[in-house]
Amino acid sequence: MQITYEIHYSRRRSISVSIKPDCRVFVKAPIGTTESAICDFLTTKKTWITKHLEKQESESEKAKALGYLTADEIKQIKKQAHRIIPELVEYYSKLSGITYGKIAIRLQRTCWGSCSARGNLNFNCLLVLMPQEILDSIVIHELCHRRHMNHSKAFYEEIDKYFPDYKRCNKWLKENGGVYLSRVK
Ligand SMILES: [Zn+2]
Repeated sequence: MQITYEIHYSRRRSISVSIKPDCRVFVKAPIGTTESAICDFLTTKKTWITKHLEKQESESEKAKALGYLTADEIKQIKKQAHRIIPELVEYYSKLSGITYGKIAIRLQRTCWGSCSARGNLNFNCLLVLMPQEILDSIVIHELCHRRHMNHSKAFYEEIDKYFPDYKRCNKWLKENGGVYLSRVK
């Protein structure tokens, strides 16, 4: 298989592969792993790699067509996010009775939101570019992590109580979210 990859050796037990937002294939392997062992591993992952590379390439093409976000646009997006997101968190907090700590809003290239053990919530400002219900779904997702710090069935049942449309939004984000991330240079 013809795949160009970067390799990082460390004291780990198994080989793993990931694809970076700029389409680089990144392999992590235990120190001393032979090239043929890595090749064998990549061959078993060929379908996965090809699928993800294709998805990411089409995303960066779409992003290029839309244009990369300028520093000024990013500034405006952050401003808007600071105006909208805390209010939305407060709304869903009241609705669900779930409390939270601090809210941080950042520009991120890899994730939409997160929730710390202390209940501090972190959101990607790019969410404000998406349809409103997508932003809602991420807010409720992170709040529900206050009750379940995992993605268990119970966690999704909790979400379902306050946001029954969650599955559809999650699917939308999986299909379309990458393009938004790719617009950041
Ligand atoms: Zn989560």
